[in-house]
Amino acid sequence: MFGKRIGIDLGTANVVVVAHGRGVVLDEPAVVALTDRENAVVAVGDEARGMIGRHPGSIQVIRPMREGVIADYLITEAMLRYFIGRVTGRLSLVKPEVMICVPIGVTGVEQRAVRDAAEAAGARRPAHLIPEPLAAAIGAEIPLGSARGHMVVDIGGGRTEAAVVSMFGIVASESIRVGGDRLDEAIAQYVKRRNNLLIGERTAEEVKTTIGSALPIEPDRTIGVRGRDQITGLPRTIELRSSDVTAAIQESLAAVVQTVRVVLERTPPDLASDVIDRGIVLTGGGAMLPHLDDLLLYETGVPVHIADDPLECVAKGAGAALDYMEVVARALPTPEESLVAEQM
Ligand code: ADP
Ligand code: MG
Repeated sequence: MFGKRIGIDLGTANVVVVAHGRGVVLDEPAVVALTDRENAVVAVGDEARGMIGRHPGSIQVIRPMREGVIADYLITEAMLRYFIGRVTGRLSLVKPEVMICVPIGVTGVEQRAVRDAAEAAGARRPAHLIPEPLAAAIGAEIPLGSARGHMVVDIGGGRTEAAVVSMFGIVASESIRVGGDRLDEAIAQYVKRRNNLLIGERTAEEVKTTIGSALPIEPDRTIGVRGRDQITGLPRTIELRSSDVTAAIQESLAAVVQTVRVVLERTPPDLASDVIDRGIVLTGGGAMLPHLDDLLLYETGVPVHIADDPLECVAKGAGAALDYMEVVARALPTPEESLVAEQM
């Protein structure tokens, strides 16, 4: 099976695993299907996702990560165990050395939960943690060792994290609980309010990825959307336009823009001027929303580049970071800093 050193991006939406020196070996949605009665795991990842919204009543499909952190510890552990087993081989006796990402600004308790879950799931002790923006920067091949400032903005399912990095450290950062999921919710809310139609989260996400745009586009694209009429209770289909989606997600996108602004403001002037020269690198699935780069450029005046493989960047960086263990450990919030975060 694959090498014994792996990097894991434990995301809210997707789990991506990279074998050191080999690239991506697993990329599946972060969902688990369980029996209602015994909470026994029936399926994980792709197979479990296929059951969302269409499974028998006795099975529930759960996303154990919410807003970038562990929402259900035991299920996260079971999911990690399954994925780690898949890439290292279930019968393997040698435990893999694991580097796993945590959002910046997570509390000490949340960090410990990720480490414990990885170790309980079969990672060699100690499991190593890396702040997500650093992993994203390494994965995007930003020269982290240099004294220049670089800005990475990662837009995942549950969170957006913006950070300026320099010399393997995080100079300024901000993390908000707004990401792709929030955009999906906003689309569902919009359709409910305007059309009295209830649509599921998968449908809303499909609308977003098919016709969504951060700025108005010409010509407007359309998609047929099927949902349940709130008044009659019967299925009904409506047509949505890109401009509807743009309107629905405006407010959430404004929060993303604001986060980038805040980080720019907190960055010391010399490093901020590097960022203005070099531009911002976007990673995470949200980076693929059409014209999000243009919106950020328009709102901040800073040029924006989308990473080559936005969905795999963080995992690749985590895998590569196995070579820089000590520098990475120094970038994690100290227990005192975490304590401050917990009290906020
Ligand atoms: P996480 O790190 O939280 O697991 P990812 O980086 O894997 O998140 O990104 C998942 C998010 O990206 C989801 O909310 C998904 O809807 C969104 N996404 C994926 N493709 C697109 C696209 N083409 N346009 C807009 N959003 C997208
Ligand atoms: Mg992510």
